Amino acid sequence: MGLLRRERIEWKTPEQVRLMRRAGLVVADALEAVRDAVAPGVTTGQLDAVAERVIRGAGAEPSFLGYQGFPASLCVSVNEEVVHGIPGERVLRDGDVVSVDCGAVVGGWHGDAAFSAVVDGGGGAVDPEDLALVEATEASMWAGLAALATAERLGEVGAAVEDAVGGRYGIVEGYVGHGIGTAMHQPPEVLNHRSRDRGPRVRPGLCVAVEPMVARGGAETDVLEDDWTVVTTDGSRAAHWESTVAVHEGGLWVLTARDGGAAGLARHGVVAAPLD
Ligand code: MG
Ligand code: MG
Repeated sequence: MGLLRRERIEWKTPEQVRLMRRAGLVVADALEAVRDAVAPGVTTGQLDAVAERVIRGAGAEPSFLGYQGFPASLCVSVNEEVVHGIPGERVLRDGDVVSVDCGAVVGGWHGDAAFSAVVDGGGGAVDPEDLALVEATEASMWAGLAALATAERLGEVGAAVEDAVGGRYGIVEGYVGHGIGTAMHQPPEVLNHRSRDRGPRVRPGLCVAVEPMVARGGAETDVLEDDWTVVTTDGSRAAHWESTVAVHEGGLWVLTARDGGAAGLARHGVVAAPLD
């Protein structure tokens, strides 16, 4: 999302974090269902329908639908598309890189998460370099999330993401993670790279979406004529991973993961801290 100006942060109470977890778990369930549905021959519009069914079935609403006029419940971005792809008639093909971003709102509180995957129909079309990109992007997300366990300033998240990407790929410029709560996008920004701005203090009540966007080629992007779809300028394939995480008195809990991020955080020696 675009750069947000430094504004007041909505610090959440423990009770509010628990409300956000409800939205986060709806997003987790929707993305799991979409992940199961990803296959050659499936349209991006069909993935959108899967997500919307799960979201509404849980008594939640899609955060994206109608957001600044966005026409769907998911963003589905394929190959050189980075983020904000509009689901529709496009048919997934064996070997495509597909990035799926989902938001849901429950009782006024939002959750936001994304994954990327390589469509594998068993036809041998999967490029190992695409798998490596997807894995590196996910790993950079976990590095950023884990950094929150010890960070004094939010800028340490961006540094951790940048270090995890390690110069092998382009970290997409101009799009960042964000605070989340009663709005899907709110201050503060969460950069995916180092900055001289150390960012706000990290303390209990901070809820943010960490979302690295990484390309096999350069970091520059363009927006297609639909005014939404962000593509890499050089046409290289891109991946996008995102989780919503809460910093609370006991530590970290990833709100958009069933296990609170325990498995992913453990790779960095961080123990996920349940909310209750
Ligand atoms: Mg998102
Ligand atoms: Mg987001």
